[in-house]
Amino acid sequence: MNGIKEEAPVQVIVVGAGPVGLWLAAELALAGVSTLVLERDEQRSPHSKALGLHPRTLEVLAMRGLARRFVAEGVPLPNWHFGMLERRLDFTGLGTPYPFMLAYPQVRTEELLERRARDLGVSILRGHSVTGLTQDDSSVTVEVAGADGTSTRTAQFVVGCDGAGSTVRKAAGIDFPGTDSTAYGFIGEVVLDDPPGTVVSTHNAAGALIALPLGGGRHRVTGFDPANQNAGDELTLEELRAITSRVTGTDYGMRDPSWLTRFGNATRHAATYRKDRVLLAGDAAHMHWPAGGVGLNVGVQDAMNLGWKLAAEVQGRATAGLLDSYHDERHPVGEALAEHTLAQGALITAITPDGQALRSLLNNLLASHPNLERALAEKLAALDITYTPSDPAAHPLVGTRAPATEPDSIIFSALQGGRPVLLDLSGGNRLGRAADSASAMGIETHPSPLAETGGPDWSGVGAAIIRPDGHVWRAVDGSPANLESAVMRSLDSLEATFAPRTG
Ligand SMILES: Cc1cc2nc3c(=O)[nH]c(=O)nc-3n(C[C@H](O)[C@H](O)[C@H](O)COP(=O)(O)OP(=O)(O)OC[C@H]3O[C@@H](n4cnc5c(N)ncnc54)[C@H](O)[C@@H]3O)c2cc1C
Repeated sequence: MNGIKEEAPVQVIVVGAGPVGLWLAAELALAGVSTLVLERDEQRSPHSKALGLHPRTLEVLAMRGLARRFVAEGVPLPNWHFGMLERRLDFTGLGTPYPFMLAYPQVRTEELLERRARDLGVSILRGHSVTGLTQDDSSVTVEVAGADGTSTRTAQFVVGCDGAGSTVRKAAGIDFPGTDSTAYGFIGEVVLDDPPGTVVSTHNAAGALIALPLGGGRHRVTGFDPANQNAGDELTLEELRAITSRVTGTDYGMRDPSWLTRFGNATRHAATYRKDRVLLAGDAAHMHWPAGGVGLNVGVQDAMNLGWKLAAEVQGRATAGLLDSYHDERHPVGEALAEHTLAQGALITAITPDGQALRSLLNNLLASHPNLERALAEKLAALDITYTPSDPAAHPLVGTRAPATEPDSIIFSALQGGRPVLLDLSGGNRLGRAADSASAMGIETHPSPLAETGGPDWSGVGAAIIRPDGHVWRAVDGSPANLESAVMRSLDSLEATFAPRTG
């Protein structure tokens, strides 16, 4: 084919070895799918855009046995900000074993996720840039440019995890409607000779500024400078000093920048997360102002939702509509992400008297309405996400997060293989033949006490089937007398999807 090499096919090609592509690849490999990651850059960027992991991402990591490692290395922060409002959101009362924002650099997250993907058998080719793709009824072929020239690779499915400028999205013809940047923030990573004793978060008529320690004597200084909104100007140390002094009254003795950059508030959202055999996840599907530190988190959660469904599809086990449910469940999450990051951007850039009045009003409301504060905290933490079932008669718990209160909760240990689990909530081994049927489908049964998280009401539930991504798939009310047959019916409804793989 015109001197272009044609490489051996794999089942899924993931484009992009950012956090989202790496997590997706690991999930696919865990399910036994042959997966190739193609990454444009020879080396990972040394700069961490994201600096934090939110509670639901830590729960996701816990479901695969990784959270302990991250938590041991990171710094738990008990509260976090929304739009840089002075009233911080308290995470400590959230119904999760991880009631904090874990300060953890993106570079390190990617290192650990890459190691996991490789350990599970994923091939990752760096220096391989995808330049285009074509698809037909049974496969997708990507064109790849690398140091050795150009080649093509074919797979049953391709997932674009190639960031906001996604080549995959464009080549698949998926629209990306939204708005261009109207405001720009700045980031500097510097040494502070006279560092503040604590995290600085200041907002006033001169602008907005956060300064937080990165370790090793360095600080990240980030914020919004109304005096310079020229995206094309390179950020300089002098400019960073000037804005820091204007907002806080001191420049903290800053020197030796290791990273100076700007970012905008362009907000766009893919019209669809699936076009036939091409799917999108992470920043390729949604771009936004990085307010609240959520982009990486939402992307990893996209991948967690997609991995097991795509594996079932590739292995010929998926029931009709399972793969499409990825768009149905995650697109609304992307909509909510665009909405709250735009709202946070509006608050961060609100330096005029009317903007300051809006901030003051919200600060006071948050202080006097704990439920409002909790709702915003759950939004950033992604603990508020419930996937609406397509069946209106489904049990009210279907689509909710399976509750866990401890890092060693049964739900986390039971999901480590990436298979669904059957929770026996009946008070001990009362599921009889249903447990045998589950076992024949590769679904283990775990007796489990009810976890009280302050979330949905689980009283009266005798058994529940939990999806590999930790959401409730089926829930069965009932006493031990009728539980066995009711659980058997639930398992029957899943059989096509989770029959054990043959061959
Ligand atoms: C200033 C800033 C601060 C942020 N802070 C936070 C935060 O605190 N918390 C948070 O959760 N999020 C934060 N984010 C967002 C977060 O960094 C992103 O959401 C996250 O990196 C998205 O991961 P991804 O894997 O989808 O995409 P990316 O990280 O963009 O990775 C995409 C990968 O695809 C590769 N690629 C691109 N094109 C091709 C191609 N054609 N072929 C092959 N490979 C290709 C790229 O080289 C890259 O490695 C921040 C973002 C910015 C800009």
